[in-house]
Amino acid sequence: MSQVGTEKNPLRVAIIGAGPTGFYAAEHLFKQKGIVIEVDLHDRLPTPFGLVRGGVAPDHQKIKSVTKAYDRTAAHPRFRFYGYVEFGSDVSLEDLKKHYHQVLFSTGAQTDRSLDVPGEGLKRSHAATEFVAWYNGHPDYRHRQFDLSVERAAVVGVGNVAVDVARILCRTPAELAATDIADYAEEALRASRIKEVYMLGRRGPAQAAFTNPELKELGEMPGADIVVLPEEVELDPLSEKSLADDKAAARKVEILQEYALRRETGKPRKLVVRFLVSPEEIIGNAAGEVVAMRIVKNELYATDNGTLRPRATDQIEELPVGLVFRSVGYQGVPLPGVPFHEKWGVIWNEKGRVIDPETKKPVAGLYAAGWIKRGPTGVIGTNKPDALETVQRMMEDLAQGLTLHPSQAQASAVEKLVRERKPNYVSWEDWKRLDEIEVGKGKREGRPRLKFTTVEEMQAALGR
Ligand code: NAP
Repeated sequence: MSQVGTEKNPLRVAIIGAGPTGFYAAEHLFKQKGIVIEVDLHDRLPTPFGLVRGGVAPDHQKIKSVTKAYDRTAAHPRFRFYGYVEFGSDVSLEDLKKHYHQVLFSTGAQTDRSLDVPGEGLKRSHAATEFVAWYNGHPDYRHRQFDLSVERAAVVGVGNVAVDVARILCRTPAELAATDIADYAEEALRASRIKEVYMLGRRGPAQAAFTNPELKELGEMPGADIVVLPEEVELDPLSEKSLADDKAAARKVEILQEYALRRETGKPRKLVVRFLVSPEEIIGNAAGEVVAMRIVKNELYATDNGTLRPRATDQIEELPVGLVFRSVGYQGVPLPGVPFHEKWGVIWNEKGRVIDPETKKPVAGLYAAGWIKRGPTGVIGTNKPDALETVQRMMEDLAQGLTLHPSQAQASAVEKLVRERKPNYVSWEDWKRLDEIEVGKGKREGRPRLKFTTVEEMQAALGR
């Protein structure tokens, strides 16, 4: 066989997971000079773009325009999309090894972390990630029910996901109607009786994970006043010191201190951002539904490495909330046959090369990028350099001849396999057709798009 990476024998790469990282990895691969590379991007959903479609808040349309760059990558003649093809059930690692020289996993972090407090399993206690997937029309979550008939909700955590959830709960019907939020979610939120939303941070304002533009947006909502307790944004000496070399955190505290001076203006809703409090227990009624949350006041202490951590005091408070969203981070899910670091929730890897945990040596031909490589941190753009690091390792290994040795390294062989296993898979052309229909339906209603939210609807729209 001729050298791999030539016109006669292109380097065949499978990328599993069509979120931003998958597209960035494909883009970096296509930019390689002097090597002919074919990329097949697989996703278990019929639709591409991962969290840009299923995670980014519907009122953040500008962020979603990043998909234009992904469209350009997909237009490359050596790019193929295999949507609605699930790794582990429709195709196995063994199948991929037979068809590709390299396999890159960019599956993100598909589940959430739990709080580990009593009452977490009660009715009306949910993972924020599920609520996000629901309002964004993710087919796996569109049938979830969220009881918005209560008056008070708590969001545990002060990261950007918590901010998204709190903001969506506070948006007015008119604001939501101008977005691409799933139609059933728009309807449910229009009927929402929620009046107060609490966001709960276990540490202080200087340690809050949300970013400043997102925080500012919370202070500009037409339908909700922001409330911050002055005593909770006064800094302790350790936090004060930490701000000296952290301009962004200093600005964050400044914004919060300005919020603390504001008076309520009588908007229909109120968003209360609390600091230095942790849930101890979610309390239920006889029907097993959330009715309150017991929270404990924390103080900060410095660990040996200087990080400020929360420690419970003996001050307890009961917050009367009927709905709870835990928003304390996403978590990676293991993939069949791929070494997984359970504690860190990522694929065992070194700079993107998958590592065998026993031998600590790279597993030839297998790679990881994005959240499944480094954990659920950073914004969409963070995945571009992350994917590049992995692609550089792939190119180094190719130069050393350290690839898989597929027996059927032809694009047509994969197409045949997928057609057998998943006859109704979704190609890039199919997706473009769905995209056009969604955008067209949205246009008629003055919205950016109206999403298909079930696989059946998508298949029907493709005439299947
Ligand atoms: P995150 O930024 O890691 O925030 C997690 C939050 O949960 C932190 O406030 C953390 O507090 C808190 N937390 C963790 N364990 C807790 C516990 N046991 N009890 C109470 N609080 C706890 O995660 P995320 O909000 O899920 O976001 C994931 C990534 O996506 C982030 O990088 C985020 O910036 C990004 N994102 C960006 C946007 C945007 O750009 N608009 C939107 C959504 C998400 P500690 O700091 O004390 O651990």
